[in-house]
Amino acid sequence: MKIAVLYTEEFLHHETPAGWPECPERLEVIMRELEKSGFLKTASCDLIEPRQAMLDELTMLHDRGYVKWIKEVCESGGGAVGLEAWASPGTFEAAAYAAGASIMATDLVIEGRYDACLALVRPPGHHAGRQHAKGYCIFNNVALAAQHLVEQHGLRVAILDVDAHHGDGTQDFFYGTDEVLYVSLHQDPRLFPGRGFEDEVGSGPGEGYNVNIPLPFFTADDIYLRALESVAVPIVEQYGPDVILVSLGLDHHYADPVGRLALSMLGHIRAFYTIVELARRACGGRLVAVLEGGYSLTRIGKMSAADLAVLLGRRYGLPDEPTETPPRTRAKAEAVLRKVRRIQSKYWGL
Ligand SMILES: [Zn+2]
Repeated sequence: MKIAVLYTEEFLHHETPAGWPECPERLEVIMRELEKSGFLKTASCDLIEPRQAMLDELTMLHDRGYVKWIKEVCESGGGAVGLEAWASPGTFEAAAYAAGASIMATDLVIEGRYDACLALVRPPGHHAGRQHAKGYCIFNNVALAAQHLVEQHGLRVAILDVDAHHGDGTQDFFYGTDEVLYVSLHQDPRLFPGRGFEDEVGSGPGEGYNVNIPLPFFTADDIYLRALESVAVPIVEQYGPDVILVSLGLDHHYADPVGRLALSMLGHIRAFYTIVELARRACGGRLVAVLEGGYSLTRIGKMSAADLAVLLGRRYGLPDEPTETPPRTRAKAEAVLRKVRRIQSKYWGL
Protein backbone atom coordinates (compact mmCIF):
# COMPACT_ATOMS: atom_id res chain seq x y z
CA MET A 1 0.00 0.00 0.00
CA LYS A 2 1.28 3.43 -0.96
CA ILE A 3 -0.26 6.19 1.16
CA ALA A 4 -0.10 9.98 0.93
CA VAL A 5 -0.66 12.37 3.81
CA LEU A 6 -1.59 15.86 2.61
CA TYR A 7 -0.75 18.73 4.93
CA THR A 8 0.53 22.31 4.80
CA GLU A 9 1.30 24.89 7.50
CA GLU A 10 -1.04 27.22 5.57
CA PHE A 11 -3.86 25.51 7.50
CA LEU A 12 -2.54 27.09 10.71
CA HIS A 13 -3.18 30.58 9.32
CA HIS A 14 -6.91 30.12 9.83
CA GLU A 15 -7.14 31.63 13.30
CA THR A 16 -10.15 31.49 15.59
CA PRO A 17 -11.10 33.43 18.74
CA ALA A 18 -9.54 32.38 22.08
CA GLY A 19 -11.32 29.39 23.56
CA TRP A 20 -12.72 28.07 20.26
CA PRO A 21 -12.42 24.30 20.08
CA GLU A 22 -11.54 24.51 16.36
CA CYS A 23 -8.02 25.96 16.67
CA PRO A 24 -4.63 25.68 14.92
CA GLU A 25 -3.28 23.55 17.82
CA ARG A 26 -5.47 20.68 16.55
CA LEU A 27 -3.28 20.17 13.51
CA GLU A 28 -0.11 20.89 15.47
CA VAL A 29 -0.77 18.03 17.90
CA ILE A 30 -1.77 15.73 15.04
CA MET A 31 1.38 16.43 13.03
CA ARG A 32 3.57 16.11 16.14
CA GLU A 33 2.11 12.66 16.84
CA LEU A 34 2.51 11.60 13.20
CA GLU A 35 6.16 12.62 13.32
CA LYS A 36 6.64 10.78 16.60
CA SER A 37 5.07 7.63 15.12
CA GLY A 38 7.78 7.40 12.46
CA PHE A 39 5.15 6.50 9.84
CA LEU A 40 5.94 9.57 7.75
CA LYS A 41 9.47 8.27 7.25
CA THR A 42 8.45 4.84 5.94
CA ALA A 43 8.88 4.05 2.24
CA SER A 44 5.16 3.42 1.75
CA CYS A 45 4.12 6.85 3.05
CA ASP A 46 4.69 10.29 1.49
CA LEU A 47 3.96 13.65 3.08
CA ILE A 48 2.67 15.90 0.32
CA GLU A 49 2.23 19.66 0.20
CA PRO A 50 -1.22 20.31 -1.28
CA ARG A 51 -2.25 23.07 -3.67
CA GLN A 52 -5.02 25.65 -3.31
CA ALA A 53 -8.38 25.06 -4.92
CA MET A 54 -8.95 27.44 -7.83
CA LEU A 55 -11.96 29.73 -8.03
CA ASP A 56 -13.68 27.57 -10.64
CA GLU A 57 -13.22 24.56 -8.36
CA LEU A 58 -14.75 26.32 -5.35
CA THR A 59 -17.65 27.46 -7.51
CA MET A 60 -18.45 23.90 -8.61
CA LEU A 61 -20.69 23.97 -5.51
CA HIS A 62 -20.37 27.36 -3.80
CA ASP A 63 -21.89 30.56 -5.15
CA ARG A 64 -19.31 32.88 -6.68
CA GLY A 65 -20.69 35.75 -4.56
CA TYR A 66 -20.19 33.75 -1.37
CA VAL A 67 -16.58 32.88 -2.25
CA LYS A 68 -15.88 36.54 -3.04
CA TRP A 69 -17.52 37.68 0.19
CA ILE A 70 -15.40 35.32 2.32
CA LYS A 71 -12.29 36.65 0.58
CA GLU A 72 -13.36 40.25 1.26
CA VAL A 73 -14.11 39.57 4.93
CA CYS A 74 -10.63 38.07 5.31
CA GLU A 75 -8.97 40.97 3.49
CA SER A 76 -10.72 43.44 5.76
CA GLY A 77 -9.48 41.73 8.93
CA GLY A 78 -11.97 38.90 9.47
CA GLY A 79 -14.95 38.36 11.74
CA ALA A 80 -18.01 36.17 12.19
CA VAL A 81 -19.16 34.71 8.84
CA GLY A 82 -21.97 32.42 9.95
CA LEU A 83 -23.43 30.37 12.79
CA GLU A 84 -20.32 29.37 14.77
CA ALA A 85 -18.11 30.21 11.82
CA TRP A 86 -15.20 32.61 11.99
CA ALA A 87 -12.81 34.10 9.45
CA SER A 88 -9.38 35.58 10.18
CA PRO A 89 -7.08 37.34 7.66
CA GLY A 90 -5.53 33.95 6.73
CA THR A 91 -8.79 32.01 6.51
CA PHE A 92 -9.52 32.34 2.79
CA GLU A 93 -6.12 30.95 1.80
CA ALA A 94 -6.27 28.18 4.41
CA ALA A 95 -9.79 27.19 3.32
CA ALA A 96 -8.73 27.22 -0.35
CA TYR A 97 -5.84 24.91 0.58
CA ALA A 98 -8.20 22.64 2.54
CA ALA A 99 -10.49 22.29 -0.48
CA GLY A 100 -7.49 21.96 -2.81
CA ALA A 101 -5.94 19.22 -0.67
CA SER A 102 -9.19 17.25 -0.77
CA ILE A 103 -9.51 17.55 -4.56
CA MET A 104 -5.81 16.82 -5.10
CA ALA A 105 -6.05 13.72 -2.88
CA THR A 106 -8.83 12.28 -5.05
CA ASP A 107 -6.71 12.85 -8.17
CA LEU A 108 -3.70 11.12 -6.60
CA VAL A 109 -5.89 8.07 -5.92
CA ILE A 110 -7.71 8.09 -9.28
CA GLU A 111 -4.42 8.37 -11.18
CA GLY A 112 -3.19 5.34 -9.24
CA ARG A 113 -0.22 7.20 -7.73
CA TYR A 114 -1.42 6.31 -4.24
CA ASP A 115 -3.75 3.63 -2.94
CA ALA A 116 -5.30 5.95 -0.38
CA CYS A 117 -4.85 9.47 1.01
CA LEU A 118 -5.27 11.12 4.38
CA ALA A 119 -5.87 14.88 4.07
CA LEU A 120 -5.26 16.61 7.40
CA VAL A 121 -6.93 19.93 6.75
CA ARG A 122 -8.64 22.83 8.46
CA PRO A 123 -11.00 24.61 8.42
CA PRO A 124 -13.29 21.58 8.22
CA GLY A 125 -16.08 21.46 5.64
CA HIS A 126 -19.16 19.30 6.07
CA HIS A 127 -21.52 21.99 7.47
CA ALA A 128 -20.66 24.51 4.74
CA GLY A 129 -23.43 25.09 2.19
CA ARG A 130 -23.78 26.71 -1.23
CA GLN A 131 -23.72 30.19 0.23
CA HIS A 132 -23.10 29.85 3.92
CA ALA A 133 -20.38 29.06 6.43
CA LYS A 134 -21.48 27.17 9.53
CA GLY A 135 -20.18 25.12 12.43
CA TYR A 136 -16.46 26.02 11.97
CA CYS A 137 -16.73 25.21 8.21
CA ILE A 138 -16.05 27.62 5.31
CA PHE A 139 -15.85 25.58 2.06
CA ASN A 140 -17.17 22.02 1.88
CA ASN A 141 -13.93 20.12 1.25
CA VAL A 142 -15.37 16.61 0.89
CA ALA A 143 -18.36 17.72 -1.16
CA LEU A 144 -16.03 19.58 -3.57
CA ALA A 145 -13.83 16.49 -3.88
CA ALA A 146 -16.91 14.37 -4.63
CA GLN A 147 -18.21 16.86 -7.20
CA HIS A 148 -14.76 16.92 -8.83
CA LEU A 149 -14.85 13.13 -9.16
CA VAL A 150 -18.34 13.24 -10.69
CA GLU A 151 -17.74 16.19 -13.05
CA GLN A 152 -14.14 15.61 -14.12
CA HIS A 153 -13.89 11.82 -13.96
CA GLY A 154 -17.50 10.64 -14.35
CA LEU A 155 -17.20 8.44 -11.25
CA ARG A 156 -19.67 7.21 -8.64
CA VAL A 157 -18.77 8.35 -5.16
CA ALA A 158 -19.80 7.20 -1.69
CA ILE A 159 -19.26 9.62 1.18
CA LEU A 160 -19.11 8.07 4.62
CA ASP A 161 -19.37 10.74 7.32
CA VAL A 162 -18.24 9.59 10.77
CA ASP A 163 -17.96 13.02 12.38
CA ALA A 164 -20.05 13.23 15.57
CA HIS A 165 -22.26 15.79 13.83
CA HIS A 166 -24.48 15.39 10.80
CA GLY A 167 -22.93 16.87 7.64
CA ASP A 168 -25.92 18.96 6.64
CA GLY A 169 -23.94 20.91 4.05
CA THR A 170 -22.82 17.76 2.28
CA GLN A 171 -26.29 16.20 2.43
CA ASP A 172 -27.82 19.27 0.78
CA PHE A 173 -25.41 19.29 -2.17
CA PHE A 174 -26.21 15.73 -3.19
CA TYR A 175 -29.78 15.31 -1.94
CA GLY A 176 -31.24 15.15 -5.45
CA THR A 177 -28.66 12.93 -7.19
CA ASP A 178 -27.75 9.25 -7.31
CA GLU A 179 -24.18 10.05 -8.47
CA VAL A 180 -23.09 10.56 -4.87
CA LEU A 181 -24.25 8.39 -1.98
CA TYR A 182 -24.16 10.13 1.40
CA VAL A 183 -24.12 7.96 4.52
CA SER A 184 -23.73 9.58 7.94
CA LEU A 185 -23.50 8.22 11.47
CA HIS A 186 -23.95 11.02 13.97
CA GLN A 187 -25.28 12.09 17.32
CA ASP A 188 -28.90 13.15 17.85
CA PRO A 189 -29.09 16.21 15.55
CA ARG A 190 -31.99 18.03 17.23
CA LEU A 191 -29.80 20.70 18.86
CA PHE A 192 -27.28 20.94 16.02
CA PRO A 193 -27.35 21.06 13.04
CA GLY A 194 -31.13 20.48 13.14
CA ARG A 195 -31.20 18.01 10.27
CA GLY A 196 -29.92 14.47 9.77
CA PHE A 197 -32.99 12.43 10.70
CA GLU A 198 -33.82 8.89 9.56
CA ASP A 199 -36.51 9.93 7.07
CA GLU A 200 -34.26 12.30 5.09
CA VAL A 201 -33.61 9.84 2.26
CA GLY A 202 -32.96 12.10 -0.73
CA SER A 203 -35.39 13.37 -3.37
CA GLY A 204 -36.12 12.82 -7.07
CA PRO A 205 -33.32 10.76 -8.66
CA GLY A 206 -31.52 11.04 -5.29
CA GLU A 207 -34.23 9.19 -3.36
CA GLY A 208 -32.60 6.32 -1.48
CA TYR A 209 -29.10 7.79 -1.82
CA ASN A 210 -29.06 9.65 1.48
CA VAL A 211 -28.70 7.60 4.65
CA ASN A 212 -28.83 9.09 8.14
CA ILE A 213 -28.14 7.12 11.31
CA PRO A 214 -28.82 9.56 14.19
CA LEU A 215 -27.60 7.92 17.39
CA PRO A 216 -28.56 9.05 20.90
CA PHE A 217 -26.04 11.02 22.97
CA PHE A 218 -23.53 8.70 24.72
CA THR A 219 -23.79 5.91 22.16
CA ALA A 220 -20.55 3.96 22.61
CA ASP A 221 -18.34 1.53 20.68
CA ASP A 222 -20.73 -1.45 20.70
CA ILE A 223 -23.78 0.17 19.09
CA TYR A 224 -21.78 2.53 16.87
CA LEU A 225 -19.86 -0.36 15.32
CA ARG A 226 -23.05 -2.37 14.92
CA ALA A 227 -24.67 0.58 13.10
CA LEU A 228 -21.64 0.93 10.86
CA GLU A 229 -21.30 -2.78 10.09
CA SER A 230 -24.98 -3.69 9.75
CA VAL A 231 -26.36 -0.61 7.95
CA ALA A 232 -23.69 1.70 6.49
CA VAL A 233 -21.30 -0.96 5.16
CA PRO A 234 -23.87 -3.10 3.27
CA ILE A 235 -25.44 0.00 1.70
CA VAL A 236 -22.10 1.35 0.44
CA GLU A 237 -21.19 -2.12 -0.82
CA GLN A 238 -24.46 -2.45 -2.74
CA TYR A 239 -24.06 1.04 -4.18
CA GLY A 240 -20.75 -0.02 -5.71
CA PRO A 241 -18.78 3.25 -5.64
CA ASP A 242 -15.61 3.90 -7.66
CA VAL A 243 -14.14 5.82 -4.71
CA ILE A 244 -15.00 6.19 -1.03
CA LEU A 245 -14.56 9.58 0.62
CA VAL A 246 -14.53 9.68 4.40
CA SER A 247 -15.55 12.77 6.36
CA LEU A 248 -13.16 11.84 9.11
CA GLY A 249 -14.38 13.51 12.28
CA LEU A 250 -12.57 12.61 15.48
CA ASP A 251 -15.12 14.29 17.75
CA HIS A 252 -17.04 11.06 18.46
CA HIS A 253 -14.54 10.23 21.25
CA TYR A 254 -15.97 10.29 24.80
CA ALA A 255 -13.45 12.94 25.88
CA ASP A 256 -14.31 15.33 23.07
CA PRO A 257 -15.43 18.72 24.44
CA VAL A 258 -17.88 19.30 21.56
CA GLY A 259 -19.20 15.90 20.41
CA ARG A 260 -21.68 13.92 22.52
CA LEU A 261 -20.96 10.35 21.43
CA ALA A 262 -18.86 8.02 23.60
CA LEU A 263 -16.50 6.08 21.37
CA SER A 264 -13.11 5.06 22.68
CA MET A 265 -9.99 5.42 20.56
CA LEU A 266 -10.25 1.66 20.03
CA GLY A 267 -13.83 2.01 18.79
CA HIS A 268 -12.70 4.79 16.47
CA ILE A 269 -9.92 2.75 14.99
CA ARG A 270 -12.08 -0.34 14.60
CA ALA A 271 -14.59 1.85 12.71
CA PHE A 272 -11.84 3.22 10.45
CA TYR A 273 -10.45 -0.27 9.85
CA THR A 274 -13.95 -1.44 8.87
CA ILE A 275 -14.18 1.42 6.35
CA VAL A 276 -10.74 0.70 4.88
CA GLU A 277 -11.70 -2.98 4.48
CA LEU A 278 -14.98 -1.88 2.90
CA ALA A 279 -13.01 0.20 0.37
CA ARG A 280 -10.85 -2.82 -0.45
CA ARG A 281 -13.93 -4.93 -1.22
CA ALA A 282 -16.02 -2.21 -2.87
CA CYS A 283 -13.56 -0.15 -4.94
CA GLY A 284 -10.08 -1.61 -4.98
CA GLY A 285 -9.09 0.25 -1.82
CA ARG A 286 -9.56 3.70 -3.37
CA LEU A 287 -10.21 5.86 -0.31
CA VAL A 288 -9.65 9.49 0.59
CA ALA A 289 -10.13 10.47 4.24
CA VAL A 290 -10.44 14.18 4.98
CA LEU A 291 -10.30 15.55 8.52
CA GLU A 292 -13.48 17.21 9.80
CA GLY A 293 -13.99 17.82 13.55
CA GLY A 294 -12.17 16.45 16.61
CA TYR A 295 -11.27 18.74 19.50
CA SER A 296 -9.71 16.71 22.29
CA LEU A 297 -6.10 17.87 22.00
CA THR A 298 -4.93 14.88 24.07
CA ARG A 299 -6.67 12.30 21.84
CA ILE A 300 -6.82 13.48 18.22
CA GLY A 301 -3.07 13.09 17.62
CA LYS A 302 -3.13 9.44 18.64
CA MET A 303 -6.35 8.81 16.73
CA SER A 304 -4.87 10.26 13.52
CA ALA A 305 -1.63 8.31 13.89
CA ALA A 306 -3.67 5.14 14.40
CA ASP A 307 -5.73 5.94 11.28
CA LEU A 308 -2.54 6.29 9.27
CA ALA A 309 -1.31 3.00 10.76
CA VAL A 310 -4.47 1.27 9.53
CA LEU A 311 -3.90 2.61 6.01
CA LEU A 312 -0.30 1.42 6.12
CA GLY A 313 -1.24 -2.00 7.53
CA ARG A 314 0.77 -1.25 10.66
CA ARG A 315 0.05 -1.52 14.37
CA TYR A 316 -0.23 1.44 16.70
CA GLY A 317 -0.98 0.99 20.39
CA LEU A 318 -3.75 3.15 21.83
CA PRO A 319 -4.03 3.73 25.58
CA ASP A 320 -7.80 3.35 25.95
CA GLU A 321 -10.50 0.84 26.89
CA PRO A 322 -13.51 -0.13 24.73
CA THR A 323 -16.76 1.59 25.76
CA GLU A 324 -20.24 0.15 26.21
CA THR A 325 -23.49 1.99 25.66
CA PRO A 326 -25.48 2.44 28.92
CA PRO A 327 -28.74 0.35 28.97
CA ARG A 328 -31.27 3.19 28.55
CA THR A 329 -29.27 4.73 25.71
CA ARG A 330 -28.88 1.29 24.16
CA ALA A 331 -32.67 0.80 24.03
CA LYS A 332 -33.05 4.18 22.29
CA ALA A 333 -30.20 3.45 19.89
CA GLU A 334 -31.65 0.06 18.96
CA ALA A 335 -34.97 1.71 18.19
CA VAL A 336 -33.13 4.16 15.90
CA LEU A 337 -31.41 1.29 14.09
CA ARG A 338 -34.73 -0.52 13.60
CA LYS A 339 -36.23 2.67 12.16
CA VAL A 340 -33.29 3.26 9.81
CA ARG A 341 -33.48 -0.34 8.60
CA ARG A 342 -37.24 -0.09 8.05
CA ILE A 343 -36.87 3.12 6.03
CA GLN A 344 -33.74 2.16 4.07
CA SER A 345 -34.81 -1.42 3.28
CA LYS A 346 -37.13 0.14 0.69
CA TYR A 347 -33.94 0.90 -1.27
CA TRP A 348 -31.30 -1.56 -0.05
CA GLY A 349 -31.06 -5.19 1.01
CA LEU A 350 -30.53 -5.00 4.78
ZN1 LIG B 1 -18.34 17.51 14.38
